[in-house]
Amino acid sequence: MALKICSIASGSSGNCIYVGTDDVNLLVDSGISGKKVELGLSNIGVNPNTIDGILITHEHSDHIRGVGVLARRYKIPIYTTKKTWEAMLDYKPIGKIPTDLFMGIYPDEDYAIKDIIIQPFKSFHDAIDPVCYTFRNKDKKISIATDIGCYDEYIVEKLYGSNVLFIEANHDVKLLEVGKYPYYLKKRILSDIGHLSNEKSGELISTLYNETLSHVILGHLSQENNFPELAYESVKTVLLNYPHIELDNLNISVASRNNNSELVVVV
Ligand SMILES: [Zn+2]
Ligand SMILES: [Zn+2]
Repeated sequence: MALKICSIASGSSGNCIYVGTDDVNLLVDSGISGKKVELGLSNIGVNPNTIDGILITHEHSDHIRGVGVLARRYKIPIYTTKKTWEAMLDYKPIGKIPTDLFMGIYPDEDYAIKDIIIQPFKSFHDAIDPVCYTFRNKDKKISIATDIGCYDEYIVEKLYGSNVLFIEANHDVKLLEVGKYPYYLKKRILSDIGHLSNEKSGELISTLYNETLSHVILGHLSQENNFPELAYESVKTVLLNYPHIELDNLNISVASRNNNSELVVVV
């Protein structure tokens, strides 16, 4: 029973990630249209009727835009914290979501959804109550950490021991600094409650590296202040500073903005 992950869309324009086993199918966020999610799922042979839950990280529109449509159409339970649920409902474009679909969760608690144990954990980001998630099945672990402005020992502890890490590499600091974003936005992105830069992402991966880590997927790239080759090379350059990291045994990829990324299966 292998754990699987496939990014359906990733970036500041919309996020949705599939995680599952042969028995359970989950989505993390749904910040793209219901139609795009259905297409992404059909590309990996998953029927939307079999989705067991949508796990929400936070209420920013690039993470929740498509939640209402999917939840109503397929009656999918929505796992999130109470504060995020309330903030989501304030975002009018997602429409009404039946209250009985809300599954309240708390950071640092384990929740079994069939044969996957999910654990939300707190992150630093400028949302009402942001969380990230780890997924465990037997001795395998996949972690997703995007929209984190920085990390501390707590976050490192949560992510440690993963076989697959889906990590934000949002921007190149120099591109952001010289780019056309207004000053307040630059300041927000660079702050400890904004997003991880390529370099910080590399440093976090170096801290988390051990021999169980086989795949790193870089995601949530900024459209304005990053591009896939740059994110990949920047992270690799950071990792090259650490002789204990066996880059030949580490598969590093970049999640596509609008299309399915490779389906990574952990066995
Ligand atoms: Zn956000
Ligand atoms: Zn985001």
